[in-house]
Formats: sequence, C-alpha cells, structure tokens
Amino acid sequence: MTPPLGDIAHLGHVELLTPDLDGSVGFFTRILGLTENGRSGDSVYLRTFDDYEHHSLVLTAHSTSGVRRTALRTSSEEALRRRVAELERAGREGRWAEGEPGLGPVYVSSDPDGHELALYWESEWYEAPDELRPGLKNQPQAKPVQGVGVRRLDHVNFLGSDVAANTTFVREVLGARPTEQIVLDTGELAAQWLTFTNKSYDLVYTSDWTGTRGRLHHIAFATDTREDILRAADLCLDNDVFIETGPHKHAIQQTFFLYVYEPGGNRVELCNPLTRLVLAPDWPLITWTEAERAKGQAWGLKTIESFHTHGTPPVP
Ligand code: FE
Repeated sequence: MTPPLGDIAHLGHVELLTPDLDGSVGFFTRILGLTENGRSGDSVYLRTFDDYEHHSLVLTAHSTSGVRRTALRTSSEEALRRRVAELERAGREGRWAEGEPGLGPVYVSSDPDGHELALYWESEWYEAPDELRPGLKNQPQAKPVQGVGVRRLDHVNFLGSDVAANTTFVREVLGARPTEQIVLDTGELAAQWLTFTNKSYDLVYTSDWTGTRGRLHHIAFATDTREDILRAADLCLDNDVFIETGPHKHAIQQTFFLYVYEPGGNRVELCNPLTRLVLAPDWPLITWTEAERAKGQAWGLKTIESFHTHGTPPVP
C-alpha cells in the first residue's frame, strides 16, 4: 500500500456528548460492559475489554447530545506527519493538543462537515490492574463479568450535509477505501462506507436530511457472536433502554445489528461483522440503488422511519 492508504491504522476512540452523564456511564458500563478508566473534568474514560489503548470511548457532560471527537491512530510517527501535512495542504484548520490520558501529541482537525477528527501516533499500552488481569497474556483485560461484553469500538456513522465532499476528503486526505455506497436515482451519493483496515468499514457518511452539518447517526460496538446481540436486546428490554430496530441483518455490509438509544439520546449499534473482511486489494465498490434500498434489510425488515430522521444533536 502506498500513502495515503495505510497511513491511518485504525479507529482509536470517540468522544460522545451527553446531557445525562450518569445515565450514559451506567448504560455503557452496566449494559455494554465497558470499564471505567479514569475521569477528568466533565469527561469519563471508558474501555472495551479488548482495546490495547487507554480508552475506546469518552463521555463528556454537555447541554445536548452528539459526537465531539473521532480519534484515529496513524501507522507511524512519519504517517502522522504526512497526514498533518496533507490536512494543511487541503486547507483544513488544525492544532496540536497535549495531555489526553494515555496519548502523546494529538493533531485536532475536522472533516469538511465540521466533525472533529484527531490523529495521533503515540499511545500508551493498557496495563490491567490486578482485579482486571486476564487469564491469557494476549488479551489486554479480563472479559467483563456483567453486561454484553462488547469487544471493540467498531465504526462511526456520521451524518453529513454533503456525503460526496466528506467521503472524497476521507479517501484523498486520510487514505480510506470505499467498499459500499448508496447512489440515488438523481445521481446523488446518499451514503458511503469506508475502511482504513481489512474490516469492511470503519467510517460511514450518510446524508443528513435536515442539511445540518456535523451530526452523528451512530457509533457501533462489535460483539463476538450474534447471540451476544440477542442477549443485548434482552438486557435493554429489562433495563428500559429504548430499542429502535433489530435484531436483524443489514443488506449493506451484511452486518447483524441492534440499534438502541443510550440515555443521552445518542444512537448506539451493537454489531457482529467479525466474520466479514475485505482482503481483496482490488475490491470493486458496491453500489446500491434506491430501488434496492426500498426492499429493506437483508431478511425483509423495512427500514424504520426514525433511522432516516433521528440524529444527534437533535435539530428543531
Ligand atoms: Fe452501523
């Protein structure tokens, strides 16, 4: 792979804003099984058990919901310098920040829609305390005793006012490969799935029907099995977590899914895409038409209306 491909190693972590910090922390720890790994100011740092870094998710108390930062780890110090130079060349504003727990210098910039993107290389490997030490040395932390026990942060799905502009930026400036997309009859690109890795997607841009910039459709956590997602649905049912749709299987990317709203209002997906990888270096971009999308999800479930309308933060 030649740059820009390969310069971004993987999705690092996401910072979610929540008007109900205690409720959100409770959902991610008690129901999903993330572990708290420190607090600072209005932010709580959480991690999935298989994350080698300090944190996978930051929850920050705020007046409303939404996504603040999406952090991407580069594949080397040199790759970080190359991407920063490209961001500057592309006219994106940016600044260096220090002091993020577990991380070295972080370059904070944004996509054309205004979603904050942060790139970093230096990252401290997590060392579990005695009570969280795993049985095997090739796992960072013991599996959680309670909740779903999600393995990792899997992907972020942004809403964008201009899907084409944002995905072109991610491909050309950050170096991602598009794997699937939706093109409307008008020719407009309505959604595109992009990957930095062999996973079939890491970032997704979906058209925001309100035309608002910088909103979030959902963040997703991967489970080991489909059965974990059925269990998650039961845990959400028993604990008054709003289930929006699923469990079912997506047609696009074939991901087995469940969508819920965490107490702060942000949509969270539990997904099981682990068996599907894109290994082909010449993978042909798959395009779905409006007529194909109208058929609904893989096994015929119609796409729920709120899937097209709910985003965070909410807009009037
Ligand atoms: Fe998703």
